[in-house]
Amino acid sequence: MLIFRKVKDLKKHLQKQKKAGLKVRFVPTMGALHAGHLDLVKKAIAPKSISICSIFVNPTQFNDPSDFKNYPITIESDIEKLTLEGCDVLFLPDVNEIYPNGTINKRAINFGFLAQTLEGEHRPGHFDGMAQVVERLLRIVEPDILLMGQKDFQQQLIVQQLIKLRKLPVKLQVCATVREKNGLAMSSRNVRLSATDTKDALELSKALRGITLGIAKLKQNGTITITAISKLIKTKSDSLKKQPNIDLEYLDVRMASSLKPVGRVTSSSKLVALVAAKVGGVRLIDNMTA
Ligand code: AMP
Repeated sequence: MLIFRKVKDLKKHLQKQKKAGLKVRFVPTMGALHAGHLDLVKKAIAPKSISICSIFVNPTQFNDPSDFKNYPITIESDIEKLTLEGCDVLFLPDVNEIYPNGTINKRAINFGFLAQTLEGEHRPGHFDGMAQVVERLLRIVEPDILLMGQKDFQQQLIVQQLIKLRKLPVKLQVCATVREKNGLAMSSRNVRLSATDTKDALELSKALRGITLGIAKLKQNGTITITAISKLIKTKSDSLKKQPNIDLEYLDVRMASSLKPVGRVTSSSKLVALVAAKVGGVRLIDNMTA
C-alpha cells in the first residue's frame, strides 16, 4: 500500500492511475479502523479500480472538545489492517494539508432542516465541519465512487445533497451498517466503552430492532398509523430512560429520504428509526430502516 501525506504527491499518483483508465474508489475515515470501515474498503477494491482510504480526524466537525481530544488514534494498526485488506492507497494528511488557508469555511452550504434536526440539533456545527472536510477531500481525490456507511444515516443524506448542490462528479455508494454478532453497531468510539457500558449499549440496537420489527408488522397488517408508530417509540424510549447508565438524546422514527417527521404513512412508506445516547459518557448513534 502506498502512503501519501501530501496533496500534491497524491494528486500526481492518482492522475497517472486515471490516465491508465482506472476508476478511483474512495473511503474517507477518521481512523481507529474496525470491521465497518474495512467492509467499505473491501467494496472499494474492484477490477480496473484503485482503492483509496483517507485517515484524517477533522477538527472542524467536533462540537465537543473532549470528544476530539479523546478520539482514538491507532495509526500503526490501521496501516496494518489496510495493508492486509489489500487497499492500494492511504492518504494521511495533517491539518495544514487539508486546510492550508485555515479552517474557516467561507463557502458553507445551508442544508436547511436536514442539518438542523437530530444530530444537527445535538451537535451544533457538526455537519458544517463534516461537509467542509468531505468537499475538500472530494476535490483532492476526485473519486468516481465515494463509499460511506449507513451507520451515519444523516451524514450520507447531507453528503448526497453536497454532491448535488456543488455538482461534484462522483457517485455515492451507501453500505449497510456492520454490527457485532450481538447487534451493537461497530464504531471507533466503542473502544472507550467499559465491559458494563458495552452490555448497556446493546439496548440501543435492541430498541431500534423492536421498533423496526413493530413497523414491519403494522405495515404487513395494513394498520400503520402515526399513533401506532408513536406508541412503539414511547415504549422503547421509556425503557431506555430507565437505564441509569444511558443518557438518551433522541429516539425517533422519520421519513428515510428527508428525515422529516412522519406525516401521512402507508405500508410503502420508507422510514428510519434513529437513536443517539451517551452510554457511560460515550456518545453513540445507530439507525435501522423500516
Ligand atoms: P468515521 O471514521 O467514523 O468517520 O467513519 C468513516 C466511514 O465509515 C463513514 O462513512 C461511516 O459511516 C462508516 N462506518 C462507520 N461505522 C460503520 C459501521 N459499523 N458499518 C459500516 N460503515 C461504518
